[in-house]
Amino acid sequence: MSCPESSTAIASLAAARGGKASDAAGNASHVGGASDAAGTGPAGDVRSLQSAAPGADARPRPGPPLWLLAEVTYRCPLHCVFCYNPVDFAHHDAELSTEDWLRVLREARAAGAVQCGFSGGEPLLRDDLEVLIAEAHRLGFYTNLLTSGVGLTEQRAAALKAAGLDHIQLSFQDSTRELNDFLSHTRTFDLKQKVARIIKDHGWPMVMNCVIHRLNIDYIDRIIEMADSLGAEYVELANSQYYSWALLNRDHLLPSREQLERAERITNDWRATHDNRMRIFYVVPDYYENRPKKCMNGWGSIFLTITPDGTALPCHTARMLPGQAFPNVRDVSVADIWYRSDGFERYRGTAWMQEPCASCDEKEKDFGGCRCQALMLAGDANATDPVCAKSPKRGVVDEAVARAQRPGNPAVHPLVFRDPKESHRLTACEPTVNAAEALATVR
Ligand code: SF4
Ligand code: SF4
Repeated sequence: MSCPESSTAIASLAAARGGKASDAAGNASHVGGASDAAGTGPAGDVRSLQSAAPGADARPRPGPPLWLLAEVTYRCPLHCVFCYNPVDFAHHDAELSTEDWLRVLREARAAGAVQCGFSGGEPLLRDDLEVLIAEAHRLGFYTNLLTSGVGLTEQRAAALKAAGLDHIQLSFQDSTRELNDFLSHTRTFDLKQKVARIIKDHGWPMVMNCVIHRLNIDYIDRIIEMADSLGAEYVELANSQYYSWALLNRDHLLPSREQLERAERITNDWRATHDNRMRIFYVVPDYYENRPKKCMNGWGSIFLTITPDGTALPCHTARMLPGQAFPNVRDVSVADIWYRSDGFERYRGTAWMQEPCASCDEKEKDFGGCRCQALMLAGDANATDPVCAKSPKRGVVDEAVARAQRPGNPAVHPLVFRDPKESHRLTACEPTVNAAEALATVR
């Protein structure tokens, strides 16, 4: 994801992407902390493009792309089992140059973007990160760095501070060295503790993220305590959503209902007994809901993701959708991508819907859910998201949930760790294979 470890992530993104968050206010406070949250960036050409945008076919005229997610690299030293990077990420390794990214930042700001998240992979692997952040800061973006912590030395932190970085989100996999290091397949726990201190020492608000799933959810109390002891102002406990590598490992990761209820109870108790001194943002997996999420707050409504190779997406996993040629910032301006490209127009509004969504009185609430989830679970990107109880394919979700209730929950294959070699192995024949197809390969 963008790094879900860092990117489920951006709990703002996680909440938009999946599940219901139990403290949306916490999220809004830092998203809304944008230095220019009203979207008052230079908007001359935006207005003219908006007036040219189609409006007669039930597709709304989009507002500006408020939230720019710059996935500056897919390279990452970690190997998280729930990674949101696409399963075929190793095929998309031709990264944009510094000049390309600087142009993207200027174009996105001119189109009205106010918040910019630098994500990956591990964004600190780009040695031009300070240059990009300095330019984003100069343009008036509120800037976030979403990191595993690897590479955040004292010197680098000082340089990022000087560049004007507003906010860092540091991810952990667990509160114990053993599980943290097992889930990422790296020895990074001690380093993350050190990085947490560096973040505090430089005066950034401490935002910690931990992706929650079957293997760590029973220790949520210890994760909260660790965040508190590190001085976190915010902690984002985002249950994994089942995309990409997390879908491959779903049998290992999907918690039981009992586990979820216990975790939510512990979280609420902590909030009540600690006077909310640390904002806890808790996101449940949408498999346990009976209505889908309003994915990304609506297709092409707020979020613009630019992948390492310059492909522009309405969400970080949309590249998996078949028959959908998404534009590249090497060829097309950000404004044209946002307001005029087929890829961004395709699922705006409700005109594209099939039944049961087409005649549903809730279609403006959730826009039929997530297109990627519809593809992965129903085999049709235009279908109703199978999380919805009205979907004829809801049984696919129920079956996964039923399997998660069984003690021991025997998985059909060992955990698959995110790794370029695995990416090539799983997608050798078909680079754009989606995780559901890759799942069949591992089996
Ligand atoms: S493998 Fe890297 S990019 Fe993926 S979730 Fe882990 S830290 Fe993030
Ligand atoms: S049928 Fe479609 S529009 Fe209606 S609630 Fe379900 S997903 Fe939403």
